[in-house]
Amino acid sequence: MTSVNSGNGVRRRVSVNERRRFMQGAFAAAVTGGVIATTGLRSVHAAACGEPSSSRPAEFTLPELPYAYDALVPVIDEMTMTIHHTKHHQAYINNLNTALKDHPDLAGKTVNDLLKGLADLPEAIRTAVRNNGGGHANHSLFWTWMRAPQENNAPAGELAEAIDSKFGSFEKFQEAFAKKAMGQFGSGWAWLVAGKSGLDVVSTANQDSPVSEGNQPLLGIDVWEHAYYLHYQNKRADYVAAWWKVVNWDEVARGFRQLP
Ligand code: MN
Repeated sequence: MTSVNSGNGVRRRVSVNERRRFMQGAFAAAVTGGVIATTGLRSVHAAACGEPSSSRPAEFTLPELPYAYDALVPVIDEMTMTIHHTKHHQAYINNLNTALKDHPDLAGKTVNDLLKGLADLPEAIRTAVRNNGGGHANHSLFWTWMRAPQENNAPAGELAEAIDSKFGSFEKFQEAFAKKAMGQFGSGWAWLVAGKSGLDVVSTANQDSPVSEGNQPLLGIDVWEHAYYLHYQNKRADYVAAWWKVVNWDEVARGFRQLP
């Protein structure tokens, strides 16, 4: 049993099953026989981005993958995806909920609210929220930015034009992004973000989120060893090179179109 805020602000007790149905409502519709409906992805993305919602449950919950655990084979193997999603991502969520449980004043905040305002959080939970809130936000987005492998996988339309304009070409963007992914010493992420000077490639250490630096993440790759080690072992460069095949450019373009 857990408690959620009902509409009038009164906390009520709900069963695990009821909570599960609640969280699945946003995501279950996303998957129809392996085909992802646009509206479903939008829901996933909205949740992933922590967009304002007056009905967020008091606890953060694990979003379902918008595809099967083996959908990214051979680029990312089924066991890696299963452990990554059900163990690693779930652990960030559990730790985030634990950190927040004695801070009911923060219950209405989205994960992005928390990550944008780390300095305003009580010092006792600031690091836990930075690490585990970041882990929850980053992975929620990461899942939506991937899909079944495709050859010659590349962006199109206005996103492709913006990438060409900023980096010179899609290939030059890939080089710059991979350089960030390879240059991140130890665990972290490489990102395409929209920042103060337009599109940019950056890396973050550990589970730090670009939103804490005022950057909007448009695409990111997890370069923690847990993301690739079973299949690629120490060969991070091979993982990064293969990963381009599974990038869901439609979803990246959707985020790009929503930029203010
Ligand atoms: Mn990860």
